[in-house]
Amino acid sequence: MDNNSLKEKISKLVEESQDRLIEICSRLINIPSVTGDELKVQLEVQKLMMEMNMETDFWIPDDREIRESSYFSENGESFQNRPVVVGILKGQNTGKGKSLLINGHVDVVTPEPLDKWKTNPFQAIIKEGKLYGRGASDMKGGLGMAMFCAELLTKKIGRNDGDITIVSVPAEENGGNGTAASLLRGYTKADGAIFPEPTSNQIQPAHRGAAFWRIYIDGKASHGGTKYKGISAVEKGIKIAQVLIELEKVRNETICSKEHFYKDYPLSAPVTLGIFNGGQFTSGQPEHCLLEGCIEYVPGEKSKDVIQSFEAAVKNACVGDEWLENHPPKIDWFGLLYEPSETPEDDAFIQMAKQSFEKVLKRTPVVNGFEAGTDMRLLRNNFGVPGFMFGAGDLAMAHAPNEFVDIAALIEGAKAMTMMMADWCGVFNI
Ligand SMILES: [Zn+2]
Repeated sequence: MDNNSLKEKISKLVEESQDRLIEICSRLINIPSVTGDELKVQLEVQKLMMEMNMETDFWIPDDREIRESSYFSENGESFQNRPVVVGILKGQNTGKGKSLLINGHVDVVTPEPLDKWKTNPFQAIIKEGKLYGRGASDMKGGLGMAMFCAELLTKKIGRNDGDITIVSVPAEENGGNGTAASLLRGYTKADGAIFPEPTSNQIQPAHRGAAFWRIYIDGKASHGGTKYKGISAVEKGIKIAQVLIELEKVRNETICSKEHFYKDYPLSAPVTLGIFNGGQFTSGQPEHCLLEGCIEYVPGEKSKDVIQSFEAAVKNACVGDEWLENHPPKIDWFGLLYEPSETPEDDAFIQMAKQSFEKVLKRTPVVNGFEAGTDMRLLRNNFGVPGFMFGAGDLAMAHAPNEFVDIAALIEGAKAMTMMMADWCGVFNI
């Protein structure tokens, strides 16, 4: 079969098999799997992989071993009852195709606040062309789609030449230690990797880095009636907050908006002030103020440099302020810190993805950067595996009440991903 008939065949088969696509995604959505509670859904993933004739590898990472590895990011979590599952469709490996790794996470964020949901978040429901449920977009819809594509290709089209490996991980939403565990197990080699995060079917070969910060500011409490005897930690906090707003502006004008994959966004890399807390009493000068947030950065930047420039900006804000000079704010970096990562657009893997997409969907794909972080950095930055994010969900829907994935987008995404698999891995007997 020539390439022209193959794309027609893929298109037709995906449409004919859409019930199976919905079934796979629904089976994943129907099992609650908030980060920390991934056992049941991973058992279901293993079951699905067996239905797909995959060789499977199912294990629970060793807490001590993973903590000792350089890929681990410390967040106090344990892997007890939190397996990683890998499914492999071994290729013929004649050299005509390349290997592909799909990495998807099964953990989801809490569905709270529950009263904002119109449906049960852990029951897949179809309404007006949309599939609802926690994880529909981020990223059970994406992982389900990738599994569907691998099954469709190998059961209905032909035998793959390059290996197809699907790595289903827990623990992504709080830092990516599930993927770290898969690296320790040896799943580090592939000619290309796809992360089916919600990209609205855009091809996104880059993601940002991010770090969580906390700033503690001290003041001096006093009665409001004699406020001149005290120092307001909140007023000092406002001063620091303004410096952070300025830092975001300067960073975006001078560095972030120049980055290839992020140049077209209204804001290429945010500095988010998520929490501003201070004061004890309505008519009193506040003794303490706490600012907490996240700074994001683009590929090419390093966490340590970004941290340094952030700390320098806060320090500068204190110059000329006698109180702040003598009581400098304390900055803590906590919880989350990871590097950005990218695969150049001219890499053969990205070129293939663009061509496969265009061939089967008959339009040019949008190629840009993912507006958050993903586990791609672990494979890309440590092992050089080229990768990109691609999934049907919408990032705006991720972590939100009434999360859904558009079924038409899911079908389009499945056509494109099956074509990518066929083009990259090569298929026989078609
Ligand atoms: Zn995700």
